Amino acid sequence: MADYLVRAIGAGGNVRAFAAVTTALVDEARRRHDTWPTATAALGRALTATALLGAMLKDPDESVTLRVAGDGPLRGIICDADERGHVRGYVNEPHVDLDRTPQGKLNVGAAVGAGTIYVTRQLALQGIYTGSAELVSGEIAEDLAYYLTRSEQTPSAVGLGVRVDPDGVVVAAGGYLLQLMPATPDADRDRLEANLAQLGSVSLAVERGMTPEEILAAVLAGLDYEILERRDLSFTCRCSRERALAAIAMLDEKDLAALEEEDHGAELTCHFCNAVYRFSEEEIRAARQNADKH
Ligand code: ZN
Repeated sequence: MADYLVRAIGAGGNVRAFAAVTTALVDEARRRHDTWPTATAALGRALTATALLGAMLKDPDESVTLRVAGDGPLRGIICDADERGHVRGYVNEPHVDLDRTPQGKLNVGAAVGAGTIYVTRQLALQGIYTGSAELVSGEIAEDLAYYLTRSEQTPSAVGLGVRVDPDGVVVAAGGYLLQLMPATPDADRDRLEANLAQLGSVSLAVERGMTPEEILAAVLAGLDYEILERRDLSFTCRCSRERALAAIAMLDEKDLAALEEEDHGAELTCHFCNAVYRFSEEEIRAARQNADKH
């Protein structure tokens, strides 16, 4: 099944709900960055969270960036998404695999550590806005829910999950995000809470084959709701050979000298997708002369 998300509104307009299946894009991230299981789970949850936040974007060129800056062995996670469902991201240290928790879960909290979650939205009309909150547990879903509730004053519930097989391959990944308006009746709040408890682990739900629509149906059971949109999701990076060369052309002599190797070429690696771009001395010289003219 290809990755996608659905966006819905329910309870008479009081509840905004999003659900996503992200198995393929999280496994693509694992493959590109060679993440080990705990790192895969952390990056996968962050990518899924970013995809869900991206579902709130509407205009072309809008984007959202999620940064989880913790003092654990992952040394931080950065993801971003645009309004077309293109998601990308990386962890600073991909080779992290910790002992599982006593409940048998991947220990994302310990891998992330203590620190801060940052959300930056680049919007067409409002411009760039960054908010932040302390990490609650480093488990990412709780951290994002706390951030949205406290920093953005929108009571939110977030579920994120990634399951890997014994070889480290991602077999299921997905999540949901619920946002409650202040006027949401207590009865609806209680109902949602009971539904979330009933649904349980979202990664297990995805592994059992539940679609984003079915996850929303479980989360919103007993409430009226309407699905407003379905959006495809993919791990897609905005880097290109042209952009990499343009970035090299902008470097000062000292930084360029640091990049150049014995064979007088230069190599640039995209942090987000791990693509490697190699340029010859001639290509770099031509690009720099071109840049000087402008
Ligand atoms: Zn890239």
